[in-house]
Amino acid sequence: MMQQNKNTFWRQYIITRELREKKNGHKGILLWFTGLSGSGKSTIACYLEQKLYQIGINTYLLDGDNLRHGLCSDLGFNNFDRKENIRRVGEVAKLMVDAGLLVLAAFISPCRKQRRIVRNLFNKNQFIEIFVNTPLSICESRDPKKLYKLARSGKLLNFTGIDSSYEIPEKPEIQLNGEVPVSTLVDKLIKFLNSRNII
Ligand code: ADP
Repeated sequence: MMQQNKNTFWRQYIITRELREKKNGHKGILLWFTGLSGSGKSTIACYLEQKLYQIGINTYLLDGDNLRHGLCSDLGFNNFDRKENIRRVGEVAKLMVDAGLLVLAAFISPCRKQRRIVRNLFNKNQFIEIFVNTPLSICESRDPKKLYKLARSGKLLNFTGIDSSYEIPEKPEIQLNGEVPVSTLVDKLIKFLNSRNII
């Protein structure tokens, strides 16, 4: 599908990520939240972003559902489209990290290989995988969008955790217990970012 262009060259501009980071007073980095639908990815990312905003960090939150309204509106949920969805998100996040932002990405991203592909777009310390580990039964009982109900009734196919698998992260940088109050989880993430001198 994708055509590689052999006759294009990477041009390095004068204003670099390092300069933008210096101006911002913090690193450009990607926090990748992965977990089942309803595990709490968007909620945790949302409140973490608010805290970061309050202390002057330049952020952007990439949300799976929101991107499917625009950049990825042509994609569905079969394996091919999910793969392409994550590829695009990874590339967008890469540009944003290069722009010096602290990017929060909340995507189910059920496939280990896809998460690794995104990880490999970044330098070693620029990609932080955060596994929001919430049991399926809890996610299903929350079901804010009633998607589990639809999936259980067979009206929604390829739903992660029901008829499509979720591959648990093997070595996430951070693992969050999604049953713990959101404020506690956000505090834990802020501590982590401080300890790594990211903020
Ligand atoms: P996801 O983005 O992973 O699909 P959401 O962030 O939309 O999940 O959260 C799903 C539901 O669970 C929401 O109604 C949210 O308020 C609730 N929720 C999220 N995190 C927690 C938590 N730590 N404890 C209790 N409820 C939570």
